[in-house]
Amino acid sequence: MTTHPHRNVIIIGSGPAGLTAAVYTARASLAPLVIEGEPSSTSDQPGGQLMLTTEVENFPGFPEGVQGPELMQRMRDQAARFGAEYLTEKATNIDFSSTPKRVWVRDDEYTADAVIVSTGARSLMLNLPDETRLIGHGVSTCATCDGFFFRGQEIVVVGGGDSAIEEASFLTKFATKVTIIHRRDKFRASKIMQERAFANPKIVVRWNSQVTRLIGDAKLTAVEVTDTVTGAVETLAVGGLFVAIGHRPNTDLFAGVLDMDETGYLVTQPGSSRTNIAGVFACGDVQDHTYRQAITAAGSGCMAAIDAERWLEATHAGK
Ligand code: NAP
Repeated sequence: MTTHPHRNVIIIGSGPAGLTAAVYTARASLAPLVIEGEPSSTSDQPGGQLMLTTEVENFPGFPEGVQGPELMQRMRDQAARFGAEYLTEKATNIDFSSTPKRVWVRDDEYTADAVIVSTGARSLMLNLPDETRLIGHGVSTCATCDGFFFRGQEIVVVGGGDSAIEEASFLTKFATKVTIIHRRDKFRASKIMQERAFANPKIVVRWNSQVTRLIGDAKLTAVEVTDTVTGAVETLAVGGLFVAIGHRPNTDLFAGVLDMDETGYLVTQPGSSRTNIAGVFACGDVQDHTYRQAITAAGSGCMAAIDAERWLEATHAGK
């Protein structure tokens, strides 16, 4: 067991929310430690979901667009310039019941007066071979982010909930045809959203169907669709596949400690980043299932940094 020097602030998670919180707390001379996660092929890695994106065209300040990983590297460098430190590991345990707050990375213990939680969320995936490889190359989990790249193409959306219907409707702005592929014979989406989709001439629904194979080398070119009733297999030529089968917040570490809603998202007090524990703040997708954009995550990271700074000033000034 190794104990490390005490910190003002520990930030857990390093997507746009965590790194923006790092820029702000570092500039406020709080020398944050960012436990940024460890490299993996999922969104649960340093930089978060943007590491699985290619071009980002809607982050203000980049008129030519920017690659997701480059944007995250720039944020990381920006916080480092003001004194943020990084630990490229995953937090494995926490204890927020005592003062100071404690965070473990395996056997190593880190303590801090304030903690900012920005562990993000992950899109549920179909778990097909090549799916991860093709993310950003025809496979997407965010219509708002990537729809624009599919102008004039035929695309498919997988799912039957509000997200799938909403994404499909949004995508008709760009695509010539959107096929919703759903594994059952009815949607779970709300009636009004369903009616909107059924009324849209660009949307076609394939009931009782599953995408069972992704086809494409550099880029997705087709999907194999299997009828769950007859077993018939068909190949559809498509420019894009949007997986919209739900998200899960990365909150296992905080179960029983931080207040969560029924789907596991952290609950913050309205208009702030405060959680139910004084000195613990949450920002980004881990507490937002509505907007889920890099820019809104970054904005909430700024809020968390300012909330943490003010809380430290009020409770720890002069200590
Ligand atoms: P969801 O309601 O959990 O729906 C997930 C859908 O994906 C279901 O239709 C499910 O099929 C399907 N699915 C799950 N795993 C699958 C797999 N492995 N292969 C194929 N299909 C799979 O998730 P969501 O649509 O993201 O919505 C989450 C919450 O946010 C909901 O409460 C929703 O109402 C809310 N939301 C609201 C709005 C809005 O009001 N504008 C927009 C988006 C989301 P089954 O139906 O067979 O289970």
